Amino acid sequence: MSALNDLTAHELSELLGKREASAREVLEATCARIDEVEDNLAAYLLLTREEAERQASAVDERRARGEDLPALAGVPLALKDIFCTKGIETTCGSRILKGFVPPYDADVVERCRENGLVLVGKTNMDEFAMGSSTENSAFGVTHNPWDLERVPGGSSGGSAAAAAASSTIVALGTDTGGSIRQPASFCGVVGLKPTYGRISRYGVVAFASSLDQVGAITKDVRDCALMLNVLAGHDPRDSTSIAAPAPDYTRALVSELAGMRVGLVKEFMEYQGVGVDREVGAAVRGAVERFHELGAECGEVSLPHLNYSIPVYYLIAPAEASSNLARYDGVQYGYRTPEEGAADIIEMYRKTRDDGFGPEVKRRIMLGTYALSAGYYDAYYLKASQVRGLIRRDFDRAFEQYDILVGPTSPTVAFRLGEKTEDPIAMYLSDVCTIPVNMGGLPGMSLPCGFSPDGMPIGLQLVGRSLGEEALLRAAYAFEQTTDFHRRRAHSVRERNGRRCVVARASA
Ligand code: GLN
Repeated sequence: MSALNDLTAHELSELLGKREASAREVLEATCARIDEVEDNLAAYLLLTREEAERQASAVDERRARGEDLPALAGVPLALKDIFCTKGIETTCGSRILKGFVPPYDADVVERCRENGLVLVGKTNMDEFAMGSSTENSAFGVTHNPWDLERVPGGSSGGSAAAAAASSTIVALGTDTGGSIRQPASFCGVVGLKPTYGRISRYGVVAFASSLDQVGAITKDVRDCALMLNVLAGHDPRDSTSIAAPAPDYTRALVSELAGMRVGLVKEFMEYQGVGVDREVGAAVRGAVERFHELGAECGEVSLPHLNYSIPVYYLIAPAEASSNLARYDGVQYGYRTPEEGAADIIEMYRKTRDDGFGPEVKRRIMLGTYALSAGYYDAYYLKASQVRGLIRRDFDRAFEQYDILVGPTSPTVAFRLGEKTEDPIAMYLSDVCTIPVNMGGLPGMSLPCGFSPDGMPIGLQLVGRSLGEEALLRAAYAFEQTTDFHRRRAHSVRERNGRRCVVARASA
């Protein structure tokens, strides 16, 4: 029998419902795993153990009284440190927010609380969600549980690493250009970025407001659907929130794909003439064959403007970030450089920002400020917005022919720590398959579809029409039923091929 924390949320939900386990026991198992792995994983920035114990006990008491509880009541949850949590420090991976304690909860945090999820901690991330490896955090690097010498992906790397190591059961992340899907892919777990506006961003630290979206990182597809049931819905406090009612996403979980049209995107398999890694390409083509066997009609499709996604993103996202980050001035939030030595308030702003922001954030603020400056706006921001329109049109056309589009989540498996830190462009390219999806505001999902010869997980990306989350879940679930990738756990792999895994000894 596996440890409780190695189970999925739906398995735990069943045990809890039958009173074969208590929320306190599930929490204890999860905390024991945290104690065991955090020294070499470093997925968390902060643990909220006392609060978690209170929440778990409250769930157990309600159940003992015979109350009807929500499906995920008593399930441990980790939050990327980008979500405002009332009374709990929220840093967004940045020194400039050190000491910031929000007076309110983000909408999604409220929803998780109402559903009885038990918050175990806040996870590490790239500063202000800018990055693809979690190496841009001001508070140290997180390691990939499958190989401690590699990155977990980013920017939601802490959330993905914790889910993969079973040091949480479910986690939340955000995705502006791939930050849920790419770390899910690198850590061998499931990540879904829903349609822009499907989940409220009230109380989520803003990076690039026309792209940011919240989503869950889970161990399997059913858990992903259950989490979407918790998170999705209208919120009048977020003006981009979609008013359409959210369905019960678990209804989409059926094991066949008759009539579904699946298009493999040529530009996802090859960028400017360079193909994705061989094993990644092979795993993705294998998945397409599996879709065919499950009853789907499969073909290939080209979306030519996808080739412009990276340059377009690196104008739009920094431009929006330069505006959003202007609020960190040493007065309103968190950190301020001590005043002595600052001649006036402008000097205080300058010093605070110089000490408070890391190099990648500074680079983006400079890029964005330049792209928005008088005389350059038309040439850069406006032009990028126009090309973004062409990318969207490519997607619209492809969806006339296909119900979902597929490709790899990332061209490679997880890379080594330090491998790309000196080369920002190489780092940016690891999101070449995920960024276009944010440009279109479309739902995108990553799920495990294989392992490389050296044992690293490979992610399959599925892209749907606007509000087409159910089609993604259906395809993902049917595929997952035919594989056992989602049942493998990083810590049950012993040291092999020189890889050091998160618990490099025989476990459960
Ligand atoms: N890696 C991309 C970036 O650095 C995307 C990040 C994200 O989705 N938050 O901006």
